[in-house]
Amino acid sequence: MSVQEAIYTLRSVLGKENVITAKEDLICYSFDATADLPEHLPDLLVTPMTVEQVAEVIKAANRYKMPVYPRGSGTNLSGGTVPVRGGIVLSSLKMNKILEIDPDNLTATVQPGVIIQTLNNTIAPHGLIYPPDPGSMATATMGGSVAECSGGLRGLKYGVTRDYVMGLEVVLANGDIARFGGKTVKNVTAYDMVRLFTGSEGTLGIITEIIVRLIPAPETRETMFATFADLTTAGRSITEIIRSKVIPATMEIMDRVTMETVENHAQIGLPTESEAILLVEVDGIPEVVRREAATVREVITRNGGVVKTAAGDHERDQLWAARRAALPALARKRPTTILEDATVPRSKITEMLLAIQNIGRRYNLTIGTFGHAGDGNLHPTILTDSRDQEEMERVHRAVDEIFKAALSMGGTLTGEHGIGMAKARYLPWEYGEKGVQVLQKIKEALDPEYLLNPGKMVPCREERK
Ligand SMILES: Cc1cc2nc3c(=O)[nH]c(=O)nc-3n(C[C@H](O)[C@H](O)[C@H](O)COP(=O)(O)OP(=O)(O)OC[C@H]3O[C@@H](n4cnc5c(N)ncnc54)[C@H](O)[C@@H]3O)c2cc1C
Repeated sequence: MSVQEAIYTLRSVLGKENVITAKEDLICYSFDATADLPEHLPDLLVTPMTVEQVAEVIKAANRYKMPVYPRGSGTNLSGGTVPVRGGIVLSSLKMNKILEIDPDNLTATVQPGVIIQTLNNTIAPHGLIYPPDPGSMATATMGGSVAECSGGLRGLKYGVTRDYVMGLEVVLANGDIARFGGKTVKNVTAYDMVRLFTGSEGTLGIITEIIVRLIPAPETRETMFATFADLTTAGRSITEIIRSKVIPATMEIMDRVTMETVENHAQIGLPTESEAILLVEVDGIPEVVRREAATVREVITRNGGVVKTAAGDHERDQLWAARRAALPALARKRPTTILEDATVPRSKITEMLLAIQNIGRRYNLTIGTFGHAGDGNLHPTILTDSRDQEEMERVHRAVDEIFKAALSMGGTLTGEHGIGMAKARYLPWEYGEKGVQVLQKIKEALDPEYLLNPGKMVPCREERK
C-alpha cells in the first residue's frame, strides 16, 4: 500500500485542506527548536479538528504502516517532533478550544492545541492561575507541555505540569479513544494512567483533551535581584534560602556570560562585572511575603551578595523580561545553541555550577549558564557553530561530561526538556539496561508496532541490538 493511498483515505476523512503534502509546506515540520539534530521530511501533515478525526488518522496509520508524530508548536528542545522515519506529522493546532473553565471545581478543560498563555489570560479574570510557565508559554501548546511534562520559572514552589494534570482523553496506538482521571481531587482508581501519559513525549498515545487544576492567584509578590562576586556564594545562598524554610515562587540564576549577552541584547543595566545574579520572587499573602522577603535578603547579604528589591511593576517586569531573554539573547551570539537541562539535587547546585564552568574551560567552549537554580535545574548553554566539525567534537564531549557530572551528583539527564531523540543514547546511564527494558515493555504494551513517535525516548528493540 502506498503513501498515495494513505493521502487519499485521509483526505476523505479530514478534508483536503487538512492533509498537506507539498514539500515546501512540509519543510518546517522536518525539525523543531532543538539544535544539532538531523532533519527529516515527513510524507504528510494532518491537522485534525476532532478526536474522531485523530482516531481515523491513527487507524489509517496502522493500515498503511506509517508512523505518526504528534506536534504542538514544535518548541521542544529534545528533538521530540522530528519525523525520523518519515510518515505523518499530526498537528494539534486546529484543536485549540478552551472547553470549560469550572470555578467551582477549580479546573479547566482544554483541547491540546490551546496555547499556555491563552489559558492563563482566559482564567485571569476569575482570579485563577495555571502555574506551569515554561519560558516558551506564549507559543507552546498545552498538549506539547503535558507530553513533555514541562516545568517553568515557578516550578520551585508550584511544581511542574504533572502536578496540575487531573484528567486526559487519549487516542491509543490502535485508534481507540480512552479517558483517564477527571475533576475529582482524589482519584486512586487503578494505575495512575494520567501520570503515565504525562511526560510520555507522544510515544504512548495522542492527547486530545486535558483537564487541569487551577489555583487562586497569589495576592501579592516581591521580586529581589542579587549580585554576587562568585558562583560559590550565589550557589550557597540558594541552598541556605531553602534551608531557612522559605520556598520562593521562583529562584533563577544567570552567570556572567549569560548576563553580558542579555545586556548586549537588551541594554537594561545588568551588572556585567558580577559573576552571577539571582532573581528571587516570593508570593502569597502580604504578611508572609514581607517575612519571607526579609529572610531572603538576610541570607543573601550574609553570604556577601548585594540585594535590591524591584521598586514596582515596571522594574519587576524588566527583570523577568531579562530572564526570559536569556535563551534568545544567547542564541544570537553564535550560529548554534546547544541547550541542556541536566538537573541536580539543589544542595549540589554550587558543585554543578563549578563543574560546568570547569568543563567549559577544559574544552575551550563558551558556556552560558542560567536556569531554575532553586530546582537544581540549570541550563548550561553551549554557543557554537555546527559547521565547525572540530569544535562540535569538543561540544559533544563536553555535553557527555555535563551529564556524567549531574548523574554523579545524584541528578538526572533532564529536569524538563525530556529525552526525545537528543538524549535517547544517554538513557541507560541513568536507568541502566534493566530500567530501559521496563520502558520498552510499557511502550510495547501500548504501541507494539512502535507507530507513535518512533525513535524518541524508548529505543526500538532492533535499534539496541
Ligand atoms: C525559548 C524556549 C524556552 C523554553 N523554556 C522552557 C521552560 O522553561 N521549561 C520547559 O519545560 N520547557 C521549555 N522549553 C521547551 C518547550 O517549549 C516545552 O517543552 C513546551 O511545553 C513544548 O510545547 P510545544 O507545543 O512546542 O510541543 P512540541 O514541541 O510540538 O512537542 C513536544 C512533545 O510533545 C509531543 N506532543 C505534542 N502534542 C502532543 C499531543 N497532543 N499528544 C501527545 N504528544 C504530543 C510531541 O510529539 C513531542 O514529543 C522552552 C523552549 C524554548 C524554545
